[in-house]
Amino acid sequence: MESLRADVVVVGLGAFGSAALWRLAARGVNVVGIERQAIGHAFGSSHGTTRLFRVACLEHPALTPIARKSLELWTELGERTGQVYVRQTGSLNVGGPNSSPVSGARRAATESGAQATELSHDELRSRFPQYGGLAADEVAVWDPDAGICYAEPTVRAQVAEAQRLGATVYPHTMVTAIEPGSDGVVVRTPTVEFRAEQVVVCTGAWLGKLVPALPLSPRRTPLFWFRPQDPESEAFRLEAFPSFIWEFADGRGLWGHGSDEDFGVKVGLHGGRERENGFDADELDRYIHPLDDIAELASVVGRAFPGLDPAPVKAIPCMVTDSPDGQFLIGRYDERVVVAGGDSGHGFKHCAGLGEVLAQLTTKETPYADVSFIDPLRFG
Ligand SMILES: Cc1cc2nc3c(=O)[nH]c(=O)nc-3n(C[C@H](O)[C@H](O)[C@H](O)COP(=O)(O)OP(=O)(O)OC[C@H]3O[C@@H](n4cnc5c(N)ncnc54)[C@H](O)[C@@H]3O)c2cc1C
Repeated sequence: MESLRADVVVVGLGAFGSAALWRLAARGVNVVGIERQAIGHAFGSSHGTTRLFRVACLEHPALTPIARKSLELWTELGERTGQVYVRQTGSLNVGGPNSSPVSGARRAATESGAQATELSHDELRSRFPQYGGLAADEVAVWDPDAGICYAEPTVRAQVAEAQRLGATVYPHTMVTAIEPGSDGVVVRTPTVEFRAEQVVVCTGAWLGKLVPALPLSPRRTPLFWFRPQDPESEAFRLEAFPSFIWEFADGRGLWGHGSDEDFGVKVGLHGGRERENGFDADELDRYIHPLDDIAELASVVGRAFPGLDPAPVKAIPCMVTDSPDGQFLIGRYDERVVVAGGDSGHGFKHCAGLGEVLAQLTTKETPYADVSFIDPLRFG
């Protein structure tokens, strides 16, 4: 079997891996990236056109500096490539005064200095009449630095930039084993083995297959797009209907954003009837089911946003990978292995910022942000 050498091998070039590859290449590291599929494919967690970009991160205040780092890096990259990777239109965190979007965004503002403006029920209703299903006590926190980011173009751009900076990329190459040892690590594929000082494993829903001790559970999460009832209406364009997370009193919620170009209005359901989770990522159910997937979502969308036609016009299957506490698993796993996964459905906006952390950990620099809360070994 042919043997190739590198300082660092990055396995899996979705959101996290493409960013790690880019940030390592930016440091002049001799780095190789290996991806089982084509770059920017539709079989993992990073496909579809867009993702919500938020800075007042309800999931943890320490995520705010990581989102800001992503924005900084993507802005620099965009200046070089002439592309836009984030569109900042602001974002609404909607719910009761103690709901997780409202209290979480508030906490990010207090503890990490994220910009955030409180909107009373009446202010919310008059500025955003699209929210026809608001309950009497529901309010919002406006995150002015938020917006949307562009998923597949960003993954491709991060890989292309890494290659421009000297990284070597092997698409359509499956890693079958990772064998750390005292003098390095061997990364095996069916036809070539790679010998390196370190490996960064970013295989998303497949992370548990290469690093089985990590407590991860893939969750099926299809993506849906809708159209306004009135095809001429401008009320659901992105500028008028920016990205949002809305949690209802029953614990379910909606997230999404208005139509950008001609992508349609993206809306997903959180906390609904789960069809499946904890499955083998290779066995993801890629069909869309009229009752389990669409009926509940359509009835919630119809109530929440009466101006939208509740029948989705487009759907694609996707999955996220949950960790036990909903935070990522990013960091050093052992002397030779750094891991990045457990995206828990909110990782895209952080991928460039986390790629920088991964590069810093791999090259033994001090990370620019506190990442102890996402240490992969925190569960023991
Ligand atoms: C429906 C949906 C909506 C979301 N909304 C948001 C949002 O609004 N905002 C946000 O910030 N985040 C959001 N997310 C989460 C975000 O998309 C994920 O956090 C992110 O895409 C995870 O990236 P990843 O690199 O971990 O996984 P992936 O992109 O899946 O990358 C893993 C890669 O590893 C490769 N791989 C696997 N096994 C091997 C192997 N053995 N050898 C080689 N390669 C391998 C895979 O082919 C894949 O390319 C959403 C996710 C979904 C599914």
